[in-house]
Amino acid sequence: MQALMHQFIDNQWVASRGERRLAVIDPYREAVIAEVTAGAAEDVDAAVNAARRALPAWRALGGAARGAYLDALADALETRRSELAMLSSRNNGKPRAEAEQDLSDAIACYRHYAGEARALDARQGEAVATGETGLLSRRYQDPVGVAGLITPWNFPLVSSAWKLAPALAAGCTVVFKPSEVTPLPEQALAEIALAIGLPPGVVNLVHGDGEQVGAPLTAHPGVDKLSFTGSTPVGEAVMAAAARGIRNVSLELGGKSPILVTEDADLDLAAELVLAGFCYNAGQMCSATSRLLVHEAVAEALHARLDAAVAELVAGDPLDAATTLGPLVNAAQRDRVAGFLATAEAEGLAPTTEVRIALPHHGHFVAPRVFRDVPVDSRLWREEIFGPVLCSRSFRDDEAAVAMANDSDFGLAASVVAGDPARAEALAGRLTAGNVWCNTHQVAPPGLGWGGMKGSGIGRELGRAGLEAYLEARYVTRPS
Ligand code: NAD
Repeated sequence: MQALMHQFIDNQWVASRGERRLAVIDPYREAVIAEVTAGAAEDVDAAVNAARRALPAWRALGGAARGAYLDALADALETRRSELAMLSSRNNGKPRAEAEQDLSDAIACYRHYAGEARALDARQGEAVATGETGLLSRRYQDPVGVAGLITPWNFPLVSSAWKLAPALAAGCTVVFKPSEVTPLPEQALAEIALAIGLPPGVVNLVHGDGEQVGAPLTAHPGVDKLSFTGSTPVGEAVMAAAARGIRNVSLELGGKSPILVTEDADLDLAAELVLAGFCYNAGQMCSATSRLLVHEAVAEALHARLDAAVAELVAGDPLDAATTLGPLVNAAQRDRVAGFLATAEAEGLAPTTEVRIALPHHGHFVAPRVFRDVPVDSRLWREEIFGPVLCSRSFRDDEAAVAMANDSDFGLAASVVAGDPARAEALAGRLTAGNVWCNTHQVAPPGLGWGGMKGSGIGRELGRAGLEAYLEARYVTRPS
């Protein structure tokens, strides 16, 4: 059994100061496949100090040289693609094809920010229109400093790429704390940092849980920037920690995203998009479109197609190419979803679909459930479930659909499925969500921004905005 007993600090594998060990499981086999050492505040301190020492030289290196390292990182991930997809699939339970997609997304992200790093050099010192005659100003962008990066378990290697790539491109050095649930694939990033010859201290990886590593990292005064992806309650704690010392913070949090289907929609496409929106990664997606709003004229027809599509899902071994639905990531997550289902039952709600797919006899599986006519004040409708559970309501006019869609504490994503693309875009323009997809799957290419409104977070990852999250602007002004 693999044991991750060391932290990666200053390009050294250092014995952890933490004493506890955390079990890493395979959620399909319900077996412990590794142990990770729970780090401690002393590990965080050593990692932050290493990152601080490395900062001046890394910053001075310039964007082109940093971009070359990011390209090398992407190449190394490409070389290890198959092995890492398998590891991710085993550790997270996601079907192999989804893990392969994660690798593609991560690699594309590192390559994108290699280009952004080079482009940053070219923008340094560009003249800015001051709006006043007789004044010349130039704008420079400096790395914000040492970045503390904290990620969840649902898209290992992807959520870390969305932080590491722009942070390194910007010239920040980092202390990265991956989720203690999926440390196996993330460990590869430290191995790759060493293999490609990143200077010591530029990337430091500290394993451990939220309490003993995450919280000390957010509280550490040597960290200039916090970037957190995870649940909304922990996001609030991270933001409170960032307030001490007025430190920069980016938050990518939860969601309860809507998918709108109009009466002129292609219903086959709609069924495909609805299914993917709540069953991809077994529904463990921050951007899951788990609230379906369907025009009443097509509600029956759509639900019939959806039932048929659910029935075709194949639950099984994530490593098996035929599998399209894996287990949830662990027993705690399965129990959390079961808790929501029990609450629904207590509130008198029952899943309306009788579709029952065959589940393996082991593994933390949850069968997909579709609830119709869910009251808008129920927990099922309002709270993030993070499992394959869809809540549906029908609407008569677009006004009602938009109002219901926006009536949420979250605002991460939304989908619109409509026959008329102009109508789809018009509806999209009225939705309070950071990313709205019209007649397409959930996509997050690296050139676009990603992030949420309201309780879904602050700031944007990916795209130029994702780079600027790790930069401070400096204006130098003189008489012209
Ligand atoms: P979580 O908030 O429990 O944990 C996320 C990370 O924070 C983990 O690494 C954890 O160890 C750490 N952590 C926990 N407590 C901490 C603390 N007090 N201080 C600092 N760090 C702490 O979330 P999770 O269960 O790992 O992931 C699921 C959540 O993540 C869902 O709510 C989901 O919506 C959200 N998520 C959001 C996005 C997005 O882009 N918006 C993407 C993926 C997941």
